[in-house]
Amino acid sequence: MERRAFVQLLALPAVSAAAADSDARFTVEARFYEKLPYKKIRCKLCPHECVIDDRERGYCGVRENRGGTYYSLVYARVCAAHVDPIEKKPLFHFLPGTMAFSVATAGCNVNCKMCQNWDISQVRPEQVNSTYLPPRDLAAISRQYQCPSIAYTYSEPVVFAEYVLESAAAGRAAGVKSVVISGGYIQEDPLKQLCARVDAIKVDLKAFSDKFYKEVVNGELKPILNTLVAIRRQGTWTEVVYLVIPTLNDSDAEFQGLARWIKAELGPDVPLHFSRFHPEYLLKNLPPTPLATLERAKAICDAEGLHYVYIGNVPGHPAESTWCPRCRRVVVERAGFTVRAVHLDAGKCRFCHQTIPGIWAGGHI
Ligand code: SF4
Repeated sequence: MERRAFVQLLALPAVSAAAADSDARFTVEARFYEKLPYKKIRCKLCPHECVIDDRERGYCGVRENRGGTYYSLVYARVCAAHVDPIEKKPLFHFLPGTMAFSVATAGCNVNCKMCQNWDISQVRPEQVNSTYLPPRDLAAISRQYQCPSIAYTYSEPVVFAEYVLESAAAGRAAGVKSVVISGGYIQEDPLKQLCARVDAIKVDLKAFSDKFYKEVVNGELKPILNTLVAIRRQGTWTEVVYLVIPTLNDSDAEFQGLARWIKAELGPDVPLHFSRFHPEYLLKNLPPTPLATLERAKAICDAEGLHYVYIGNVPGHPAESTWCPRCRRVVVERAGFTVRAVHLDAGKCRFCHQTIPGIWAGGHI
């Protein structure tokens, strides 16, 4: 991601980190919190439920208690923006071959040791330059760059939920869809509001064990599973990504448990992407994921009856393409982030007319 170049791309003035600190446009009252005695507040946005004293911030570092009122400091405070293929998110059953106007603010509510974007996710808003990009302008600029969707991504959209909710509404009014790329660590009420406004949520399920979530993520597994079930119940399109990290989350038992849980709780049609790990951030001691491990993970999940199991970060692999589960022919052919052919008619396989679930139409703008 060439995030340093994004200001030129947008032709918008950057606000230096220091100037942004005193810029009131970035500060809005938070939506999800409750007031407590002695000017304390309890944040109700994510399962951490931080209890925060006056003049203090929550764990994510982008929300601040000022005199007993809680504020988001990252409203429209965009520190990274890029035009990306939707396949890079990855969302494979969502407007294939289109671009997503992708934005992030600083901050995250977990601290994954393998984070690829730690330089924006693990910093406070004052530590990165930003651009003021209010929701209506974001929708307009997405249209200008011929992106049928806005992606809230790179860091953790949960911590800039107010901006996502308003931008998704502005986007919808302008005919631009919204997709959220998230770790899924969020409470039920804000999640329901997100589901009502956005068109797809991709969830990074970082492992299928509590131990991993505690030791590598500083989070918990159960709330993420609850999030996935709730998204399905709300009827919002979702796909699951699982970054396979050698020795940490790559056992047969874990893959099998994951496949059985997805099939039972979400259904076999939810796409599952096994993604190759590259040494990053605090896990530079581990090697990249061997291809054989990814293929083993896919074979186990295929055998358990999942219909759409992909292998990611291995350009040219046949498991990047979408195969019809009925006639076993390729219906969306991919090579890396490029879509080479789509053999679907109104969401059905062109060869055997099997319905392939996803959001396939409305990609032109
Ligand atoms: S969103 Fe931030 S402040 Fe709120 S509970 Fe989560 S980590 Fe704490």
